[in-house]
Amino acid sequence: MPRPITAIIHQQALRHNLSVSHQCMPDSQVFAVVKANAYGHGIERVYTALQDADGFAFLDIGEGTRLRALGCKKPLLLLEGIFAFEDLFECAKHEMSFAIHSLHQVQWLKQFAAIAPDVQFDVYLKMNSGMNRLGFEPQQYAEIWQELHQLNTVRSITHMTHFSDADGERFGLDGIEHQHFIFNKTIQGLAGKTSLSNSAAILRHHQTLHCDIVRSGIMLYGSSPDYPAHSIQDWNLRPTMSLRSEIIAIQTVQAGDSIGYGSKFIATQQMRIGVVACGYADGYQRLSATGTPVLVDSVKTHTLGRISMDMLAVDVTALPQADVGSEVVLWGQSSEGVLLPIDEVAASSGTIGYELMCAVTARVNFQIDA
Ligand SMILES: *Cc1c(COP(=O)(O)O)cnc(C)c1O
Repeated sequence: MPRPITAIIHQQALRHNLSVSHQCMPDSQVFAVVKANAYGHGIERVYTALQDADGFAFLDIGEGTRLRALGCKKPLLLLEGIFAFEDLFECAKHEMSFAIHSLHQVQWLKQFAAIAPDVQFDVYLKMNSGMNRLGFEPQQYAEIWQELHQLNTVRSITHMTHFSDADGERFGLDGIEHQHFIFNKTIQGLAGKTSLSNSAAILRHHQTLHCDIVRSGIMLYGSSPDYPAHSIQDWNLRPTMSLRSEIIAIQTVQAGDSIGYGSKFIATQQMRIGVVACGYADGYQRLSATGTPVLVDSVKTHTLGRISMDMLAVDVTALPQADVGSEVVLWGQSSEGVLLPIDEVAASSGTIGYELMCAVTARVNFQIDA
């Protein structure tokens, strides 16, 4: 028997969450963001369920070639662009689009145009509208656009920017207004489609924010980008990954007994403890505080003490039926359909759903729930 820890990927939920993106933005193309191996889910495990996406966006050329190998004929977009001149040959071969965020990439493209004049790319010109991560300054933007526009090798230029605060509020505004204004002002008079929204902007700003292509990431994977302001239930999203394991031992401890490394939890009364086959080497956060929620046999309880490399302890004092072999849900959904949102678990270790789902390690078994 393999160790009982398993990550189950729910294909119906992926389909459903993608349909929520489409419903929010009926007039936009929805690109599914599958970077970081589809946010830890595995590109091959999500591809069929996300086939209704209008395109796919990611960071590594290898992720794009995997999509092509699966038979994907849709547009593909490298969100950070190319990392070396040679990447352009791969992009040409596999028909991949890429962001252009810096001058050195423009130079590579010009160099490429000189030796392969017949190849054409659909490029995404990235504007730094205020996040200060990637992109051209608004003052430079039109000039770069003109340079690219004159290259035969450039078939189309999509205007692209990324919001820093679509999940919150900034300057007393709504988190996006400031950047949206700069973006619109800067692209005035420049032809091309637009690509703006991430999940938070899709969910929170779809009534006011319009663009041709949205980049839907975390919402596809059943985590709320603005938790705790909104939960996945508020956004009508479903969990796409369930991390499940089992109790492999039961301990009974007395008042004064401690549990786990560093004796970080000390019982104040007699307690029944379930020891679960899941630890930080599976991707569970070591920094999770005592009290992090888990489901045992579909009933909510919580962790006790430090998370070990391979094990953690849960309180089953109130669950006398719980025993070796009982199902433990670390996040997602129990086999009976009870929900434990990944965002709730993430909040207990001071992080976000994104980080938990991306951190599941290679030793965890994956299963597809078709
Ligand atoms: C990751 C990413 C997205 C998706 O963001 P979510 O918050 O997961 O929806 C969109 N655009 C860019 C440029 C990204 O890097």
